[in-house]
Parts: sequence; structure tokens; C-alpha cells
Amino acid sequence: MPVAASSPSPRKPKPKAKADTGTGPGLEAAQKPAAKAEPGTGLSAVQRALRKLGLVRDIDFALYLPMRYEDETRIVRLADTRDGDTAQIEALVTGSEVVFRPRRQLIVTVDDGSDTCQLRFFNFYPSQQKQLEVGARVRVRGEVRGGFLGRQMMHPAVKAAGTELPEALTPVYSTIAGLAQPVLRREVRSGLARAQLDETLPAGEAPHGAWDLRRALSFLHYPAPDVALATLEDHSHPAWQRLKADELLAQQLSQLMARRARAAQRAPSLQSAKTSLHDELLEALPFALTGAQQRVGGEITRDLGRDLPMHRLLQGDVGSGKTVVAALAAARSIDAGYQCALMAPTEILAAQHFGKLVGWLDPLLAERGLRVAWLTGSQKKKQRDEMQAAVESGEAALVIGTHAVISEKVRFRRLALAIIDEQHRFGVAQRLALRGKAAGGVEGSAGLEPHLLMMSATPIPRTLAMSYYADLDVSTLDELPPGRTPIVTKLVGEQRRDEVVHRIRAQLAQGRQVYWVCPLIEESEAMDLRNATETRDELAAALGEGVGVGLLHSRMPTAEKQAVMEAFTANRLQVLVSTTVIEVGVDVPNASLMVIEHAERFGLSQLHQLRGRVGRGAAASACVLLYAPNEGGRVGETARARLKAMAETSDGFEIARRDLDIRGPGEFLGARQSGAPLLRFADLDADALLLDWAREVAPRMLDRHRALAEKHVDRWLGSKAEYLKA
Ligand code: ADP
Ligand code: MG
Repeated sequence: MPVAASSPSPRKPKPKAKADTGTGPGLEAAQKPAAKAEPGTGLSAVQRALRKLGLVRDIDFALYLPMRYEDETRIVRLADTRDGDTAQIEALVTGSEVVFRPRRQLIVTVDDGSDTCQLRFFNFYPSQQKQLEVGARVRVRGEVRGGFLGRQMMHPAVKAAGTELPEALTPVYSTIAGLAQPVLRREVRSGLARAQLDETLPAGEAPHGAWDLRRALSFLHYPAPDVALATLEDHSHPAWQRLKADELLAQQLSQLMARRARAAQRAPSLQSAKTSLHDELLEALPFALTGAQQRVGGEITRDLGRDLPMHRLLQGDVGSGKTVVAALAAARSIDAGYQCALMAPTEILAAQHFGKLVGWLDPLLAERGLRVAWLTGSQKKKQRDEMQAAVESGEAALVIGTHAVISEKVRFRRLALAIIDEQHRFGVAQRLALRGKAAGGVEGSAGLEPHLLMMSATPIPRTLAMSYYADLDVSTLDELPPGRTPIVTKLVGEQRRDEVVHRIRAQLAQGRQVYWVCPLIEESEAMDLRNATETRDELAAALGEGVGVGLLHSRMPTAEKQAVMEAFTANRLQVLVSTTVIEVGVDVPNASLMVIEHAERFGLSQLHQLRGRVGRGAAASACVLLYAPNEGGRVGETARARLKAMAETSDGFEIARRDLDIRGPGEFLGARQSGAPLLRFADLDADALLLDWAREVAPRMLDRHRALAEKHVDRWLGSKAEYLKA
């Protein structure tokens, strides 16, 4: 295994944009971030939050449309509201108390003359408590729930009563912690005012009836008083049609540009009479390839034999055996006399690949005077220098590592194939850098591009793949290796935690191992750590002596992480408590039980990936999804849909389809493909006609109006434009 010294670990993925929770001005005032710059960055907290949302240029703000609208134009009587209504009332505070059971909360009673309502706040600030003192008149907005205990609102927005009511609907933008709605609203308004919105569609090319862009944007950002909610939400409205058309056109144009650019590039042809390493590896494998692996291997071999750069996505469910396919492709490039690089997003994953591939390939390479090199940021300088020298001389036929593989100091002698595992974890720039490694590096053939094989464990439904990856060839491993037993998935309420401990004991008694995944606590690694540490201690106490319970957390030094991983792999530790650092790629076949705590907080694909860590051996495996209802005593609707999907199917494609249904294509892909052009407004199914229009217009526009086409793509994809060259 690689030797590693301690160093900063790869950063945790950025928190996802969180849906606005209807938090009104009352809360926002209290949460308003300090407008001071982070030392060294020169960016204020607000600017950083805006950046996280992709809001940098004026045009980005202009195109950042409300995700919904709130009706603050009317005050209603409590007595007229029904369960589930979102309502705005004005009422007198008649009671206010902080209770501590079942947990600390502020309970306020208000009376508007027609009825009373209880307001509950679990997280509250002194300023809010003051605002809600008995005797105050307040304006309250939120969802009314009418149980038999009377009306209630959880965390409603509160402001002083009596201020003027807006005339029109209020836009609500999707935001993240640290960026208050009014601040975002203001930023969007000024961005829109400054943005250049001149026409990019050539005369006569706009789809029938669509509005011009400025009119469409103003209409949607600033609804006029007479515009009803239904009108704004109607996506067949000409304002929405214009945005969808523009967006689809930008996507088509960018893919067309990418395809044309690539047709002009050349790659080394890896057609080689000699296939000895490839064949020997195949021989040495302890198993026969699945039909899917053979088919996909054939597709890759065909690509590698051409002098056009391969640009292929290999998708296959967790455990479908992508690593072998990658290793065989690497062997082909080595047979042809070239080098291959394999890059993984985390050190743990890279180390696993390294361990596996060294085992398979090193004896075969050694006979040829070649070797596998290991490169990572945490390496000691001496070791890294030695590895770099081997890469430069060409002795390292296969180079495995993390981002360190694309470091400027690493120079390949003859790189012909770059393989990127869990490709969605990498940014566009990193992918480009890996390809750039060959540009001058293929000996005697400057300007050649390497072949690129990207691997992903989250399959993308076919229609989506065709539209998003039109410039990419897709291979799919749709068959799992034989001998796997299906994983039984159980949903278990948090209150039945004890039963789960019993289950763990039962598995341990059979000599099996167990994963316990702790929830990600957004934006607080310190809390993650505390939580995971407590869980580890709790489990260690419950399971008693003789059971090794390890802890894996992203904050741990790399060397420590690796030591824990190795101990678990070798069964010196029987239970592994971890935050989601084990999410990708970890392969310990003896592990047969996966417990995921607060499963309701995880995304569907993430849950599926986690579950894929078990069921890798012959033993019957299970996945327990522990869930806890939220403060309102229920699990949110989408969380419930996710848990249900998990319980009902373990087919990665079906999971992907459901995930797509639950989240919609924009978010679904966004979480996977940082940097790819995403559709924010258009829907590939619902807007098929507009897509046809865009497909027809794009080539013509590129031929006849190149400048407009570039401007259009820049407007929509802007900072993501690098993708076009990828
Ligand atoms: P993933 O596609 O998730 O990266 P891996 O490549 O890690 O999957 O493979 C999962 C496990 O299945 C590994 O232990 C691997 O050695 C094994 N495996 C791969 N292909 C086969 C096969 N054809 N038959 C049996 N086992 C296989
Ligand atoms: Mg893998």
C-alpha cells in the first residue's frame, strides 16, 4: 500500500443549495451575515455565498429566476384558513413561553379576532423573542396546520403589523445559509438592471410567440400587481418559453461547438499487434469477465485504435466492475508502448485502486522493466520525487493517484490514456489539465490529445444522457458480476435504534463486518466529528470488548484514515463508523451490514452509493436506513419518496430514474456534473418541441452567425465555457 504522510485531506464537497424554507424577514434579520471579508480572500461573506450559487456576472443574476412567489398582498382571517394553507395574518400576541420538553422551543399564541394560532420556533434568537412579546401586533406568514390541538404554524415569518402590503407577488429565490432572502433579492435586482440583454437570436429565428429576453426576465422577477400566481407558474407562458428556448439553444450550440472542435484533434492510435499484457492480465484475473464487461471492453478497444481522442463515459452501478475494465484499457495502452494515468477524487479511493491494480499488474509489469507509480498530495517529498522521475522516464507505465497526478510538476513521457474515476467529483479544469498532460508529452508527436475514459457509478437515464452528453460516447455496464446476493433494505425509525445494535451483534457473531454512516451536518465539520465520535463510543460500549470499532472522518489526517481503512479491510476492526467519506468506491467484501443514520438527510443517489458498499461478497447483506422525523413530527415529502425508493429497488438505473423524478434534471445532474451545462428551466420531456427547434437552429446559427452564437453561449454558460473545450 502507498506510504502517506499527514497532510490536509481533500475538502468535503460544497453544501448544496438548500431550498428556501419560507424564512421571513423576522428570522433573516437575525441571521444576516456579517459583511466582513474572509481574511485573504477579499470576498465578503455575501459574495462568497453568491459565488456558491454561481452568481458572479450581472447576467448570472439576471438569469437567476425566482423558484416561487409568495402572496403577501393580502391578510386573511385565521378562521378562514384550512389545514395546509399558506396564509398571512395579522394578530395580537397573547402568550409566549419557552418550553424545554421534548426540546427547547418558543411557543407563541396569537389571536386575530377570528381565532387563535400557535407559533412554534425551535431555533430562535433573543431578537425574535422580543419581537413576539405578549401585547405585540405582528404580521405572520406561514403554513397553517390545523390538527385537533388547534391551529399551528412552524417557523413562520414574522414582522411588525401595519406596514404597507406589497401590491404584487413577492419573488422567492433559492438560497443557502448565510445569504438572506432580502439581500439576494436586492442583488438580483441590481444585477438585472446592469445586465446586457441585447438580442442574440438572429432575426427570424426566435420560436413563435416567444417574448424578448428583457421583457421575459422583468415579468418573472417583478410580477406586475395584476399578474396572478397561476400565470407566473404556467410554464407555457411566453416569458418562460423564451427562457427555455434560450437555454436549450445554448446547450445545443455548446455541444455542437465541442463536437466540431474535437473532430479537429488527434490522439495516438493504440492499435497494437502486441496484446500480451492485456491477455496476461485477463488470464491472471481470479474471475471471468461478465458479458457487459466484455462488450464495454470491446467498445473501448475500438475507440483506442482510432487516431481521434476517445471521449467516453463508462457508467455502471456500484459494484458492476468498472475497475477491471479500466485496468484492461490501461493494459492496452501499455501494450502499445504508452503510459496511462488513473485519477480518483479521494486518497482512500485512489489507494484502493492502487492496491488492486498493483496486485494485478505489478508482477506482469516487472517482467517488462515497468511499474505502477503512486502520486498523492500527502506523499513525502522524497517519495514523490522518485515517483515523478519514474513518470518522466516512462518507467511508470501506469500512474495512479489523486489530483496530484495533474500537478504541474508531473511530466509524462508518453501519456495516451487518462482514466478519471467518479468523474463528477472533478471540476472541468481538472479534467482539462489531465488531458493537457499529453499535449506536449506524447513523444515525437506534439499536439496529440490523450484518450479519455470517465467513469461514473451513477447511471444517467438514457434520454438525459443523450441530451446532456451528446458530445460524449456512453458505455454502460448493465450487469453485475455473478454470485452477489441482493441487499435487503429496511427502514427503521430512530426510536428503534436498539434493535439495530442487535442486528449488528448478529452479523458480528457470523464473522461479518459492519458500516455505520453518520449524517452530514451541513457546514459544520466540527459537529460532524463530534457526532461521529460519540456514535463510535456509544457503539463500542454497546458491543463490548473484543469488537474493534473504528472511526473515519474527513478531518482526520490522511495517514490515520488510511490506517483505519487498512485495519477494517484486514478485519482488525469489525465496525467502521464514518461520515460520508466512504461514499465512493470502498471495497470490503466481508462487510454485510450498512447502517445509515438520519437517512432522510441524504440524497437518493448518495444513499444508493453508500448501500453499494455491502453486498459485495457472497453473504446475505442488509442496509438499515435509520430515519428521524423532523421537528414537525414528520419526514418531508421528498425525503419520504427517497426512502421509499431505496426500500423498493436496488437497481441503480431505477434509482436514477426516481431521483430524476424527485429532483428534476437540473439538480439531478448538478450534483453530478459540476461544470456541465445544466438545464434550469427547460424540461427535456415537456419541452421536446423547443428542443427540436433548438436542434434545428443551432447548426445554422453557428454557420451564419458565429459571433451571436458565441455571445449566446457565453451568456448562458459563461464561466462554464471551459466545458465546451473539454
Ligand atoms: P465498481 O464498478 O463499483 O467500481 P469494482 O470495480 O470495485 O466495482 O468491482 C466490485 C467488485 O467486484 C470487486 O471486488 C471486483 O474485483 C469484483 N469483480 C469485478 N468484475 C468481476 C467479475 N466479472 N466477476 C466477479 N467479480 C468481479
Ligand atoms: Mg469503483
